[in-house]
Amino acid sequence: MSATIVAIANQKGGVGKTTTVVNVATAMAAVGKKTLLIDLDPQGNASSGFGFSSVSSAPGTYQVILGEMALESIVQNTEIPNLSLLTASPDLSAIELEMVLLERREYFLQKALESVVTRYDFIFIDCPPALGLLTLNALTAAHKILIPLQCEYYALEGLSQLLRTITRIKQKLNPELAIWGIVLTMFDARSALSEHVAKDVRQFLGESVLDAVIPRNVRIAESPSHGKPALLYDVDCQGSRAYIKLVAELLRKME
Ligand code: ATP
Ligand code: MG
Repeated sequence: MSATIVAIANQKGGVGKTTTVVNVATAMAAVGKKTLLIDLDPQGNASSGFGFSSVSSAPGTYQVILGEMALESIVQNTEIPNLSLLTASPDLSAIELEMVLLERREYFLQKALESVVTRYDFIFIDCPPALGLLTLNALTAAHKILIPLQCEYYALEGLSQLLRTITRIKQKLNPELAIWGIVLTMFDARSALSEHVAKDVRQFLGESVLDAVIPRNVRIAESPSHGKPALLYDVDCQGSRAYIKLVAELLRKME
């Protein structure tokens, strides 16, 4: 076994990165894939989404990236079988500055993952909303990128910049990086704008836009405050069902 490493990235804030990674990782674990989720965002939303404090001083991603601790020694079990979590520690917010003068600073995460890739089927990385050194580390370590795109008016503008960044990373740091898919999030079926944006995005980006669409759903919005993925909080809600469809589609794309 050698893990497929997946970065969930979009430098735009609040587009559904964390919600997507938390639920996709949960669904993968539920179908029996050994899964690791890495919280690479100093905000720690993926950690708190599983009920772990995002302000605790427990060692986490920071120590692993800097090689101060082995990932195996601090990874946490979640209440979901097959799903482990590397929590974000608040000191992660300083790591970009600390790394900036170090050599090969884009490769730290890749290096930290080398020793665990044989233990998992999937390693998902929740990126912060910026194209800084943390996201660069994720995209350098990853085989695939999954891009959540919110169905709103300016969705495509930020995306062009992200696509240019991906092209540059493929040329310079990681030729293997491929787009697994772009997933439309917070789709509001009652809104003409949502429909319009979805149509535009599909026209502009074609094949890479996934068929599964994540609706705006109140159960999804509620679930983090209970420290649970939506899939555990209410597996039957529209949002959870959409995430299950998404994961089925993603797995089909890998066959
Ligand atoms: P950031 O850039 O800050 O890391 P993000 O891209 O990770 O944000 P999320 O945290 O997943 O985005 O989502 C932003 C907010 O929208 C959260 O409060 C989340 O609960 C809510 N949200 C995400 N997806 C949905 C959805 N499908 N329906 C309703 N609310 C949603
Ligand atoms: Mg997030």
